Amino acid sequence: MAFNLNCYPISYRAKYTADGKWAEEFLEKPHKTPEEEARLSPAEAEELANSRNYYGDMPLVNYTTQYGLGCFEGLKALPQMNGSYAIFRPSENAKRFYDSMQGLYMPPFPQETFLKALKEMTRRNIELGFCPVYKAEWEKDSFSGADSIYLRPFSYSEGGIGVNISRMPWVVMAATPVSAYFSAGTSDAIVTERIRATSGGTGMIKANSNYVISVLARHEAAEQGYMESIFLDAEKRRYVEEGSSSNIFFYLKSGELVTPELGDTILPGITRLSLIELARDRGVKVTERKIAIEEAFSDAKECFVCGTAAGATPLSSITWNGKKVSFNYPGELATELQKILKGIQYGVLPDDKGWLLPVV
Ligand SMILES: *Cc1c(COP(=O)(O)O)cnc(C)c1O
Repeated sequence: MAFNLNCYPISYRAKYTADGKWAEEFLEKPHKTPEEEARLSPAEAEELANSRNYYGDMPLVNYTTQYGLGCFEGLKALPQMNGSYAIFRPSENAKRFYDSMQGLYMPPFPQETFLKALKEMTRRNIELGFCPVYKAEWEKDSFSGADSIYLRPFSYSEGGIGVNISRMPWVVMAATPVSAYFSAGTSDAIVTERIRATSGGTGMIKANSNYVISVLARHEAAEQGYMESIFLDAEKRRYVEEGSSSNIFFYLKSGELVTPELGDTILPGITRLSLIELARDRGVKVTERKIAIEEAFSDAKECFVCGTAAGATPLSSITWNGKKVSFNYPGELATELQKILKGIQYGVLPDDKGWLLPVV
């Protein structure tokens, strides 16, 4: 299982109001106890899950559903070794969500409100028993099979059919169970001909619309037997930009760790930010710069993609223009960084950087 649409019962919604405030509410959707739900037949479970992924009073025809005008976040609440729960770097997501809304000319959602709502929604779900319980056995494989709570805040526009900006949006937050994102087995990637983002576009915003191209490219990669697709830049078709929905790193034979520098076509990932810091802490020389696909082919010994869902996921090879290059797999550095990142996230290593927000 990777993502799972069996939404937890408590969600959150805020609506921008005419007086410039946000009217907030927590919604309790239909549910039984987690134990009772575990005993439901697949059909019954699906019906109950569907009834939770439903907001009957929100407009169907709007700028989000018609024109893709919306943005979202993805982050995790993790069961801690000591039995508590914590959210990983939510202030970074609050900030990025604020920037995304502003970038789409929506009234930005206050960061304090974002944090409070997220924490409270998570707490209420945990209180009802909707949460994975920490398992010591996860430690054996550095949490690669570990569960967590996936938190998905997103914007949703008011009704509208003319091409326009959203002036009175909602911010909705939902929580779902999640485990390892990429399935074990294949980890080959292929460079796609498609372009994810162009200069002057919305590539640096976590916008719904960006995902259309990513979904197509990833589907095409999967049809050819690849796990991931990799985007090159729009202008020169030469510099590596991102994975389908993840940032990318190359560990060169020289010992330099390279990740594409941020600009208006790269999404500023929080996992990317965290891995840069963790690698530097370990004395690795990390450079944010352009990296040509030819350089990656000739000089990289390891490659990994990263994101909230994926953590740091090593790639075993990249195929481009009919040529294939293989990397150390799983690479030493990717394995080490993943171990540290997950260790901090699940409360096994000390959170020296204050990256965890305790929930309960
Ligand atoms: C969300 C996202 C990422 C990863 O960001 P994280 O904050 O690390 O989860 C990378 N690339 C794209 C295009 C994304 O949308």
